[in-house]
Amino acid sequence: MASRKNKMIDLESDTKSLPTAAMKQYMMDAPLGDEQYDEDTTTLELCKRVSTLLGKEAGIFLPSGTMCNEIAIGIHCQPGDEIICHRTAHIVEFEAAGLSAISGAMVRLLDGDDGMFTADQVREAIRPKWRYAPNSRLLCIEQTANLGGGVVWPLNTLQEVTDVAREAGLATHMDGARLFNAVVASGVPAAEYAGLVDSVWIDLTKGLGAPIGAVLCGSADFIEKAWRLKQRFGGAMRQSGIVAAAGIYALEHNIDRLADDHRNAQLLAEGLATIPGVIMKSTNVHTNMVFIRVQDKDGKPAAAQFEKTLRDHGVKASAIDEETVRFVTCLNVNVEDIGTAILAVTKTMTSILGA
Ligand SMILES: *Cc1c(COP(=O)(O)O)cnc(C)c1O
Repeated sequence: MASRKNKMIDLESDTKSLPTAAMKQYMMDAPLGDEQYDEDTTTLELCKRVSTLLGKEAGIFLPSGTMCNEIAIGIHCQPGDEIICHRTAHIVEFEAAGLSAISGAMVRLLDGDDGMFTADQVREAIRPKWRYAPNSRLLCIEQTANLGGGVVWPLNTLQEVTDVAREAGLATHMDGARLFNAVVASGVPAAEYAGLVDSVWIDLTKGLGAPIGAVLCGSADFIEKAWRLKQRFGGAMRQSGIVAAAGIYALEHNIDRLADDHRNAQLLAEGLATIPGVIMKSTNVHTNMVFIRVQDKDGKPAAAQFEKTLRDHGVKASAIDEETVRFVTCLNVNVEDIGTAILAVTKTMTSILGA
């Protein structure tokens, strides 16, 4: 085992959050049964708690957030339907084209700063009912917007975009992988955001720190349909309570502490902003992510070189395109680590600019 002094500081993703000893103990003690017989009381309890927090009738425990998105899309869309979402949405970038491969849907991509768009853009994107056109069917939004920089959609903007969709007869879906980061950052209760959409899910494995799982919520009818797809995709489990317990533990212990991650991200951004050669994408850190742009001394994009050199200095971050690097804080990282990471970035930039 690496000594703590030499540990790698991992700012690549909040998915790296590890279950704590207390969380693992809670998992060991959880009552278990067969999930598919509705006998796993721990899983049932988790679903009830999340659906209550989100103000929805019912919830379903799934192995991943990706499966939540793909099941929701599978329920809302028929082949030939069109999904309206931001160009950088997770369903577009990171789900192996599931929306088309599984559900036969296509996408209408919207531009917009910080992973967000406006009600007018949605209005323009909705197609008239016409023999030739795809059928506009579903609006998807991410709260927080991941590649947008972990940005929190303001409640009123969300209200406006979902109103336009609903009035045109579209369904609405929220990818709430980091919904609780938005809740902690804004003070707006989760149910207020979730109340604007037909379906919504939260990831237990990002900042919340559980090892596996996500919970998808909606009406009772929607969740009944979700169960059919869960079964079909092979996502129905047995003694799932052993991992669902980690989710319950996370809801009880790891929501409020997301504020620490947000403070650490803010400190990181303030430190990075002073380093020569680092271009801040935004000095306004909303939640637990910081995006920077890096160039070499000739002004060429240098994200890959930055990522590699930074790793040699003991810090992981991720190059998300040729020029952009993303840092994400989570419970693995404390305030001292942030100081160490800033020093490592300083050394990295010195080496990149000197090269
Ligand atoms: C991580 C993430 C997902 C997918 O969740 P997994 O649990 O990794 O499958 C979906 N959407 C967003 C915005 C994410 O950040």
